[in-house]
Amino acid sequence: MERVQDCPFCQIATEKDQSRVIYEDDQLLAFEDIHPQAPLHILIVPRRHIRNLLELEEGDESLMGRLVRVANQIARERKVDRSGFRLVVNCNPHGGQTVDHLHLHLLAGRRMGWPPG
Ligand code: AMP
Ligand code: ZN
Repeated sequence: MERVQDCPFCQIATEKDQSRVIYEDDQLLAFEDIHPQAPLHILIVPRRHIRNLLELEEGDESLMGRLVRVANQIARERKVDRSGFRLVVNCNPHGGQTVDHLHLHLLAGRRMGWPPG
């Protein structure tokens, strides 16, 4: 993906209708995955178009920490913190990445398998 205009997550970040967004702040937003793989499946993304983990730069440590802390907050709000949840970041084709904008999957509401597929 070359153009940010073509990126579905940049579009969600900038669209006027923010009804899909369940959390937002100056750096991050979170919304339901369009094809949920668990009863709770939320994506947490930086507003900045970062292609994937490999594009993180010096100074992005706090951004990654915030992604995880927002996931914790949503897990508590949705009351899956005690039962448990899984955070996943897919990177490049063998990692299963299909959208080239960094995102954290928050999956919960069922027992996850291991090893992952
Ligand atoms: P990944 O395969 O890790 O890149 O995850 C991309 C995720 O984004 C998949 O779980 C898709 O179902 C989800 N997805 C793709 N387009 C949208 C969209 N427009 N709104 C919400 N989720 C989406
Ligand atoms: Zn993007």
